[in-house]
Amino acid sequence: MSVPDVIAIDGPSGAGKGTVARAVAKALDCRHVDTGAMYRAVAWRALQQGRALDDEQAVAAVASGAVLALDGPRVAIDGEDVSRAIRTPEMDVAASAVARLPRVRAALVARQRDLAGGGSIVMEGRDIGTIVFPDAPVKIFLDASPAARAARRAQDPAHRQPRGARLADVARALDARDRRDRTRRASPLEQAPDAVRIDTTELAIDAVVAQVMAVIRDRRRTVSRS
Ligand code: C5P
Repeated sequence: MSVPDVIAIDGPSGAGKGTVARAVAKALDCRHVDTGAMYRAVAWRALQQGRALDDEQAVAAVASGAVLALDGPRVAIDGEDVSRAIRTPEMDVAASAVARLPRVRAALVARQRDLAGGGSIVMEGRDIGTIVFPDAPVKIFLDASPAARAARRAQDPAHRQPRGARLADVARALDARDRRDRTRRASPLEQAPDAVRIDTTELAIDAVVAQVMAVIRDRRRTVSRS
């Protein structure tokens, strides 16, 4: 079986994954999948159904059975457009809560694997290079200082912050979520040993994209030679 041509981009919140993944997919003219949006949409739907977020069976049923449509920045679940509704501080916490549940992860990982095949794909998340596609030919791990990540998140128009939220509040929430993501038992956020780490703290987006494109070119040259 051939290895799907996946460009895996992992890292903590606010490291620049979304912007970089979108730009790389555009440059390669290929699909882009934001797997965080899948966890967010599942959490949103479970809450809408009145489920407790630790009801693993009920949330896993949503993860495996719901109709998910991801189209660029637009996200819909069971026909409802949740593109904006899933990007709130409450949904940050809810997504990270359902992402701890092994059966929810198993259902979404299976769906993520199904999305690959048929051309290149840029997939961003926390476990793409470690669990979803451990054989991905290109793996990038984006990181940045906590202060830089909080500043970016506070300025991100896609993520609504509560009125009057201070940078310190955003930083605290981000730190708590990352700690949960890094210390959970099921697929914790960690860098794959063969991923290229890029620290984006001092870099403009264009510079990060240029580095990622250089890694992709380099890997493709190596693969075509072997
Ligand atoms: O990337 P984003 O911040 O939208 O992800 C929301 C949450 O979904 C993360 O905090 C993490 O808990 C979870 N997630 C995950 N694995 C992924 C993508 C996201 O556990 N591949």
